Amino acid sequence: MGILRQTKSVKAVMQVFEESHDAFSSVELVEKFSGLMNKTTVYRILARLEDENYLHSFKSKEGVSLFARYNEPSTQINSDLHPHFQCKKCGKTKCVPLDIKLPSLPNYKIDTAEFLISGTCDQCS
Ligand SMILES: [Zn+2]
Ligand SMILES: [Zn+2]
Repeated sequence: MGILRQTKSVKAVMQVFEESHDAFSSVELVEKFSGLMNKTTVYRILARLEDENYLHSFKSKEGVSLFARYNEPSTQINSDLHPHFQCKKCGKTKCVPLDIKLPSLPNYKIDTAEFLISGTCDQCS
């Protein structure tokens, strides 16, 4: 994992994302690790893991930044171009392993695009 120094705190944060493919907001993670590390540390670790392409972030329907793990080992999810699914019942959001082709817009250069699908997840329906 490149230059990222795997301190105990970094490992603890990574473990959450190893165990679950759900996306978490920084607030949820700060809460989860309260007592273990402070808010600043959580934010710093998230920023570093995102720099290392271990995590990526995107916005929920409510405009909250969520973090999720980049790739499932079995699927090569293209960096930014996969949709996210937000469940309106349990509120969980996860990466959807689908490759989306960007439309080409003549004379426009697209840098980023976000796809958020909302509805009811397999656990709730
Ligand atoms: Zn659900
Ligand atoms: Zn994702």
